[in-house]
Amino acid sequence: METSLLKKLVCPVCKGALAHDAAKQELVCEHDRLAFPIQDGIPVMLQGEARSLSEPDSPANA
Ligand SMILES: [Zn+2]
Repeated sequence: METSLLKKLVCPVCKGALAHDAAKQELVCEHDRLAFPIQDGIPVMLQGEARSLSEPDSPANA
């Protein structure tokens, strides 16, 4: 698989490491709480395309 490629990718916002969510096909930055989609095996490393991980039931004082 392409896991070695994915490990080289960093968050475009904070330059931090990303977690690969194989089930959702996303690359997750826990720091920014953003999930970058992987489309046809190609990570879309654009902040504008990222999905917010903010949960509706999360406390607002995080
Ligand atoms: Zn980040």
